[in-house]
Amino acid sequence: NSIEETYRSRTPKSAALLDRANRSMPGGLTRNFGFFRPYPVVHQRGQGPYLWDVDGNRYVDLNYNGLSLIHGHAYKPIAQALAQATENGWAWLGTNLPQIEFAEALCKRIKIFEKVLFTNSGTEASMLAVKMARGFTGRPLILKAHGGYHGTYSDLEAGLHGQGEIAGHTLLAEFNNVESFERVLAQHGPRIAAVVLEPVMYTGVVMPALPGFLNQVQAAARKAGALFVLDDCLMLRLAYGGSAEKFGLEPDITFLGKFVGGGMPVGAVGARREIMDLADPGRAGGIYHGGSFNGNVLASVAGRIAVEHLTAERIQRMDAQADRIKQALEARAKAVGLSLYMLCEGSVMGLYFSATKPRPGGELPNPELSGRYHLACLNHGVQMGPGGMVSMSTAMTDEAVAEAIAGMSAALEDVRP
Ligand code: PLP
Repeated sequence: NSIEETYRSRTPKSAALLDRANRSMPGGLTRNFGFFRPYPVVHQRGQGPYLWDVDGNRYVDLNYNGLSLIHGHAYKPIAQALAQATENGWAWLGTNLPQIEFAEALCKRIKIFEKVLFTNSGTEASMLAVKMARGFTGRPLILKAHGGYHGTYSDLEAGLHGQGEIAGHTLLAEFNNVESFERVLAQHGPRIAAVVLEPVMYTGVVMPALPGFLNQVQAAARKAGALFVLDDCLMLRLAYGGSAEKFGLEPDITFLGKFVGGGMPVGAVGARREIMDLADPGRAGGIYHGGSFNGNVLASVAGRIAVEHLTAERIQRMDAQADRIKQALEARAKAVGLSLYMLCEGSVMGLYFSATKPRPGGELPNPELSGRYHLACLNHGVQMGPGGMVSMSTAMTDEAVAEAIAGMSAALEDVRP
């Protein structure tokens, strides 16, 4: 079709480099996330809200490396601090001052954090959170939402990629359905260590929680003696103190990743002292937490700046920008006769070609049209996440928002019936 032809004609260098990449990496990629047909672009440079590919095409970035660059690309304060930090080396055996400052910044900001441990990714943070919950409760099982994505830790991949419950480890319930969580907790309660939830399901279909759902699941978990574990890797951005502040939650453990590292690979797990001190190396019979690069200087320097620079005002501004894009696209879709369903929470949203609300944890509605729209947006200089995922950064100028609306609107024209 002409959308794909246009895409191919704009990206010949990407195509050639992907052929080359395919010889040394499976499918030419080193992560499934980011793959789409006919082939993804190869990026070369980022600045503020923009990304350039190897063919010189410029995109307004509405993905920011899977929401991990909340201040946009090459954010000056982080770039400068990193350049300075590298002069003295960046990975030492001992505790370092930037690490202490980063830990303090997180403990100051997130209500339940009395202490924190660092990892190198959200996935590693999820593994540590689960290990701590098991260690604290002495129980083996995990309960999570069907379709909930928490990274690539196999115990938390149940209900994803075609996997059902993982016998002996992981139980599933339906997001936005309190009774479904209560039913599993009633049946298996005394063996469940943790209920792990993302406050807004993001990967797959973006699904905000119904009012009260998160609080009711938290209460049900507590009643069963299980820990309530919040995955705030993505949704820490929803309020100054993270999604717990926004939704009035008091999780037992929260784990973080993504933007918390300012674009460097970082994950973190925090909780009250009693739980965290299980990992105190001086404590006999505690939890072992390794990781050669945990809390390294560069990650800590970048992470602290990223967190401290995300002010309440900047959060409000991003939320308002997302709302502007949503309103504009809904109006345009209506005008061109397309059924577009947009699900939005704060500065993240999902665009679905569907007349009805998609199901939590369900399949992407109309994947063929969604794929064509994603390509058409790239042709018009806008990069969303494949599957219709959109997010803001503090680097989004009014001009970049206007360009995003123009490009995404033109792409709606391209796919109109
Ligand atoms: N939790 C959520 C909600 C995520 O979206 C992701 C990644 O997309 C992760 C955890 C895992 O983070 P990482 O990709 O850093 O391993």
